[in-house]
Amino acid sequence: MPYFRTHTEINLEAIRRNAEAIKAYTGKRLIAVVKADAYGHGMIPVAEALYPVADMFAVATVEEGVELRQGGIHKPILILFSSLPEEAAQIVEHQLTPTVADWESASRLNVIAPTVVNIHVNINTGMNRSGVRWTEAAAFLNRLKTLERLEIEGVFTHLATADEADKSFVSVQLERFSSVFIGRRPKMLHAANSAASLSISASHFDAIRPGLSLYGVYPASEKPIALEPALTWKARIGWVGSISETEGVSYGLTYKASRQTRVAMVQIGYGDGYRRALSDVGEVLVGGVRCPIIGRVCMDVSVAELRDAADVSVGDEVVLIGKQGEEEITVGEIADRAGTISYEILTQIGPRVKRIFKNQ
Ligand SMILES: *Cc1c(COP(=O)(O)O)cnc(C)c1O
Repeated sequence: MPYFRTHTEINLEAIRRNAEAIKAYTGKRLIAVVKADAYGHGMIPVAEALYPVADMFAVATVEEGVELRQGGIHKPILILFSSLPEEAAQIVEHQLTPTVADWESASRLNVIAPTVVNIHVNINTGMNRSGVRWTEAAAFLNRLKTLERLEIEGVFTHLATADEADKSFVSVQLERFSSVFIGRRPKMLHAANSAASLSISASHFDAIRPGLSLYGVYPASEKPIALEPALTWKARIGWVGSISETEGVSYGLTYKASRQTRVAMVQIGYGDGYRRALSDVGEVLVGGVRCPIIGRVCMDVSVAELRDAADVSVGDEVVLIGKQGEEEITVGEIADRAGTISYEILTQIGPRVKRIFKNQ
């Protein structure tokens, strides 16, 4: 029997159902964002699971796009960010859809492309990390039309505050975006990440571009549709012990027992992506009971206090994220406790953590 010190279980059926639900909710085409190894869920199996529902896939880098092609993904693949000069040849070779936001990249592609290359143009409407400034976008789009091998398939922008309660800057960005197309509208406009897909219908245009929500994680407090978390993260008990009042635990002895306490070492540490910020504030599930992480999270192991968890032995399963019995720890909860966001928790689950795919 295969065994694991720590592993994640990825429910591919849940990812597909989430995608279907989000697509149905907006009624638009779906650009499924599978960058950063599908937010830690495994890019190729996730893309395969999403194949029937995704109209297009999106990744951050050309390297990720090539990996999808080599994994047998033949649908359009959008590279969300401008690529490097050296990457133009690979874009053409693997028929990736680049994001273009400067004239030099556009003309380079036009020179090397043997046939027509579909491109998407990124318009900067206030995020200020990439794209052509909205005031210059109409002129840029016109100039691009002189490049005979480039086909402007899509034009998009990215929203800076879609996950915040105050949507006023979203309106500013959407107005700037729409102002570019007065009188001439390209084929495919898109702007909505997960937060905007779920809460701002004015941002839906022709296609939505969700990532996080596909994996069943809400980007903000709005929950207009039911999503199912796709990832469960487990580890194993490696040692069980008992300490007396005033004794400390782990490096620096930051935790001190206030009474006789049963403790267990869990085989998970920051070397696996279980964040050190969870020292003395994390919680894990043991025997269906919430148990606090006590003392510092180490590179390979952590220690939990076995409050009401009975009969714990070496080898028992511990749930770090997900359900056990009646209890559940969500990615959002772990992120809050660690002082970060769900995106970072998911994408930092490390290579020592084996991935098991369910419902492939
Ligand atoms: C990552 C990314 C998305 C997806 O964002 P989520 O918040 O995960 O839905 C969409 N568009 C762009 C440009 C991105 O970089």
